[in-house]
Amino acid sequence: MININQLTIVMYHYVRPIKNSKYPGIKGLELEGFRRQLDYLSSKYSLITAEQLINYSRGGDDLPENACYLTFDDGYKDHIEFVMPELLSRKIQGSFFPPADAIEKRSMLDVNAIHFILASTIDNKDLVNELNIACLECGLNASDLNLLRDKWALASRYDPPEIRYVKNMLQHALSKDIRSRIVSNLFKKYVGKTQIEFSEELYLSLSDTKELVNNGMYVGSHGSRHVWLDKEPKSWQLDEINRSLKFLEKVGARTNDWIMCYPYGAYNEDTLNILKSKNCAIGLTTKVGFANLTKSKMLELSRFDTNDFPQ
Ligand SMILES: [Zn+2]
Repeated sequence: MININQLTIVMYHYVRPIKNSKYPGIKGLELEGFRRQLDYLSSKYSLITAEQLINYSRGGDDLPENACYLTFDDGYKDHIEFVMPELLSRKIQGSFFPPADAIEKRSMLDVNAIHFILASTIDNKDLVNELNIACLECGLNASDLNLLRDKWALASRYDPPEIRYVKNMLQHALSKDIRSRIVSNLFKKYVGKTQIEFSEELYLSLSDTKELVNNGMYVGSHGSRHVWLDKEPKSWQLDEINRSLKFLEKVGARTNDWIMCYPYGAYNEDTLNILKSKNCAIGLTTKVGFANLTKSKMLELSRFDTNDFPQ
């Protein structure tokens, strides 16, 4: 691990008291575990700031040995309510990547609606059943569903096959309009609230985001609509990135030598070219591993998940 060319980046999403909350099924990090993990990481690593990493990428000072960098994706209220106070009390900087639309338009990302549908579901088979019925109502037939199941019901690092199937179907396998309609119906049925009501509780507000910046935290881009950039044409990607840069300007975050965190870790050559033209210094993926600090690879850094460290 003592290698100058390698950096440990940790990725966080939900960080909150989970066990006794309204959604004990949500897949996130318990606040207590977060506190323990921060103590562990501070004792083993040199925690660095976004500015140190950006500066390094532009030919500045080397990073300290055993450097570690903390990243928080998706702009959750958790980040101001629970994460920032813990970081401030330990004098650690965190880097936060909120999708602009979730903050500014209070529109709920489908990916989050799906998390809370799953967290509110008691029986996964029942949910798969509901999903399949909804698909049939939207015009798919039984043989379409068989093909989709064979393709997408595959277990992943953290999820069993039924959950992977639901996530894949609702995140990208179904067409955009069908999946939004189904997500919004399943959300009402399982969570019992509209997505608009729920997004107020779930995401940072614009002023929360400014507060992160004003407290010395780093805020970077996680796009605007939280989409798989590699599935979109270049002009669309450019619009997406421009929108998120406007958002960064609005909250007082830097827009020169900035950091992009790819939603779902998805990007392609077009994305990289746009980022270079926009003076982006660092790109964060969801590939698992040490970040390779070779200068030509700074837009494609790997990260670890919080679950890869003691909690
Ligand atoms: Zn995300």
